[in-house]
Amino acid sequence: TAIPIRRALLSVSDKTGIVDLGRTLADAGVELVSTGGTAKALRDAGLSVRDISELTGFPEMMDGRVKTLHPKVHGGLLAVRDDAGHMASAESHAIGMIDLVVVNLYPFVRTVAKGAGRDEVIENIDIGGPSMVRSAAKNHAFVAIVTDPADYALVAGGSTTLDQRRMLAAKAFAATAAYDSAIAQWFAFADQAERFPATLPLAFTRGDELRYGENPHQAAALYLPNGPAARGIAQAEQVQGKALSYNNLNDADAALELVSEFRDGPPTVVIVKHANPCGVASADTLIDAYRAALACDSVSAFGGIIAVNRPLDGPTAEAMTEIFTEVVAAPDADDAARAVFAKKKNLRLLLTGDLPDPARPGLAIKSIAGGLLVQSRDGGRLTDDMLKVVTRRRPTPRELADCRFAWTIAKHVKSNAIVYAKGGSTAGIGAGQMNRLESARIAAWKAKDAADKAGWAEPRTIGSAVASDAFFPFADGLLAAVEAGATAVIQPGGSIRDEEVIAAADQAGLAMVFTGMRHFRH
Ligand code: 5GP
Repeated sequence: TAIPIRRALLSVSDKTGIVDLGRTLADAGVELVSTGGTAKALRDAGLSVRDISELTGFPEMMDGRVKTLHPKVHGGLLAVRDDAGHMASAESHAIGMIDLVVVNLYPFVRTVAKGAGRDEVIENIDIGGPSMVRSAAKNHAFVAIVTDPADYALVAGGSTTLDQRRMLAAKAFAATAAYDSAIAQWFAFADQAERFPATLPLAFTRGDELRYGENPHQAAALYLPNGPAARGIAQAEQVQGKALSYNNLNDADAALELVSEFRDGPPTVVIVKHANPCGVASADTLIDAYRAALACDSVSAFGGIIAVNRPLDGPTAEAMTEIFTEVVAAPDADDAARAVFAKKKNLRLLLTGDLPDPARPGLAIKSIAGGLLVQSRDGGRLTDDMLKVVTRRRPTPRELADCRFAWTIAKHVKSNAIVYAKGGSTAGIGAGQMNRLESARIAAWKAKDAADKAGWAEPRTIGSAVASDAFFPFADGLLAAVEAGATAVIQPGGSIRDEEVIAAADQAGLAMVFTGMRHFRH
């Protein structure tokens, strides 16, 4: 059986639909009580409203921090209507009953997302709102709590049933739980990134369910943080194409993270396969960068995942559709590019907006059996002061540029990573081998294979720079690079056999720089 709503307290940040609801309630004979902004909105629409300050006998104060936190509010929400003691207390303290609360909270997540400073974020932690939500939801035997504008219609008639109030209470606690977990996540990850909290407040909500995981017999879904999310592939907008798979998302993430290293650089294209780049190039135009990236390893690029650092244009999109491509991620795409892709129904186009900051703080989480491994994300970037020339010969400016480029790619290649680069594009990439020598050999072999396929006179490793994601433990890996024609080397250094490796480099006439920073990635 329905019970009537005699008094409603309306206090909403997002005022959408509140005037209509207020009017319908007023028409049903409900008394309206409101906080400042909400009262004004209702009054402006010609409704009669009682101010919360009149009900509590206190002004709204302290910049709105204290508005509804008062026994006249919480007594009116929490009193058990059929408990004589409760009603006697209410009577003696002149506490009137409140039968309906309509609240939506300060926009905490939106405030963080727009990049507000710490003080503004803190001010957007709603205290009074969740308190009312919880009081009303606890006492749902008598009180209705509405936290979702979609439920306005449910209460507009001026009465509610117990079933409805129970459903609304469940929604209300879910809303405050999500709200608090967003705040806890902000404290843990955004505000104090990298000061590992004793408990990880991981609260994620399922986004897309994926067709399957890495393999068809594995189930999978994408989860998005309840709290503020850093910009990344999970936030990209899919413009067209088949549904994204687990592997698509994983690969697109690798591609976007790498291309973001070139956020402030020249037009750059990254082609990824199985989470490793198989070709990366920078050039004056996006289409030239794409052709150079493709030429590095056109065999692997088939069915690849591409990320670019410039809005996608028609000619580049056209070139990309010459071979089978799974996913293209770009900050934006012009009409011509969209029209080209529209003809390839299956191709997934993801628009990311401005590329994420490659140096941003954050956590990287990986599951192991029975636990989680948590580390700060690898935001390490090469700066001039890190570079130390260790050979007799100094790298030429061209070699140094190739070294930097190769190093940036190597950071995003699974270890052991060896990357040859020349003239702003990769010449050969060796990934994921269990020793560095084999990665060096594989990268060189792939470069030779690419040259044979393209009919070039020589592989592009001749005269290239080579980057190693960690130190060469022996001279053999370095000698393999010499054999492939590399003339410059960039690596962290720090091996107990550094001297042996430096001597081998000097003997081969190489220029070698140490970075002092390692980029393992597994
Ligand atoms: P209004 O725009 O009506 O002035 O304020 C509405 C907002 O205030 C709602 O989001 C509600 O959750 C929040 N609110 C209500 N009471 C209090 C309180 O006592 N303290 C704080 N900080 N926020 C409150």
